[in-house]
Amino acid sequence: MMGSAELPPTISDADERARLDALEHLHILDTMPEQAYDDLVLLASTICGTPIALVSLIDRDRQWFKAHQGIGLTETDRSIAFCGHAIRRPDEVMVVPDASRDPRFAANPLVAGEPHVRFYAGAPLVTRGGVALGTICVLDDKPHTLTAQQIDALSAIARQVMHLLELRQTNDELKRLAEENARMNAQLLRYQRELEEQNAELAIEAKHDALTGLLNRSGLNKLRELAQASGWHRSRAFSIAVIDLDHFKRINDTYGHAVGDQVLQVVAEEIRRATRGGDYAARFGGEEFVVIMPDTPTAGARTVMERLRKGLAGRAGELPAAVTLSIGLASSRPGLDDPDAIFRQADQALYLAKNKGRDRVEVLED
Ligand code: GH3
Ligand code: MG
Ligand code: MG
Repeated sequence: MMGSAELPPTISDADERARLDALEHLHILDTMPEQAYDDLVLLASTICGTPIALVSLIDRDRQWFKAHQGIGLTETDRSIAFCGHAIRRPDEVMVVPDASRDPRFAANPLVAGEPHVRFYAGAPLVTRGGVALGTICVLDDKPHTLTAQQIDALSAIARQVMHLLELRQTNDELKRLAEENARMNAQLLRYQRELEEQNAELAIEAKHDALTGLLNRSGLNKLRELAQASGWHRSRAFSIAVIDLDHFKRINDTYGHAVGDQVLQVVAEEIRRATRGGDYAARFGGEEFVVIMPDTPTAGARTVMERLRKGLAGRAGELPAAVTLSIGLASSRPGLDDPDAIFRQADQALYLAKNKGRDRVEVLED
């Protein structure tokens, strides 16, 4: 427990880096005095019966005092800091009963001159990760000793100082998260407004397919223009699905064109039901549909498409024959956010789905 007279081990470069990183992270150096820390040094000096008590943090080249009592200094050079020795043994309270008779400190200017330190006891401030940032220490200009209880009390106060430091970090982190949250909310609002504007423009221009009510090819082109203008697709993950009815020609050939049209309407209804508000669905070919899903990565888009297939299967009773879909899916990813390119990939995935036997969703893996 008591500081041994032999020199403490030196701090390895890695430990010193970890120490300085942890200290930096706290944003504590050179901050204003705070009552909570002042209270703890008052307790330390009262309990240990010394005129001087400090919360000292060991920076690269200096020790800086977050709280100081009985001494006017706010920092000293690290080379003469008693605490610089104390932190080398994070799990010990270092006690120097008479510095003038201790070979480590007798020549120290704080001992030889003002404030003529004789007694020193320092309890390291140790992070959860076991890194010692500094100490809470008590000093006297007269030789002194501490009882085991006083040493325990000083350790307890050191733990309280650490609690304060960690709380500060938690608060900083919470503040940062709250700011980030506010920023993201503002951005979402902006996007939402953009989408509303886009929807309004699409509605005005009668860009819809008469048979299904979905966007038509010209609506899809307008959508593409709007996307290029707003650039939303560059900052958000999105997916595109290309949907093609399987063996649709047979339905037309067997039941006639009118029945074929009804089937297309049922498929469009199910597309609308499976997708959500921000998604866009278009009929861009005879029996070919495209669904654009903003803010939807592959897994979510696949779920939407499987929901569509299930929904359509659920309508079997209203249809003259089994109607299935082949679906190709592709999603944006870092470095590939051009909607046209993603569309082409989805189309390739559709081709794959047809080749693998239809009635399925395929994703093009790169
Ligand atoms: P696959 O599984 O390979 O896609 O076979 P498929 O028969 O669906 O493919 P194909 O492209 O050869 O046939 C598409 C058919 O869709 C041709 C046409 O008769 C039909 N079709 C296209 N537009 C319409 C439409 O507006 N109404 C109706 N009833 N049928 C249409
Ligand atoms: Mg087709
Ligand atoms: Mg087809």
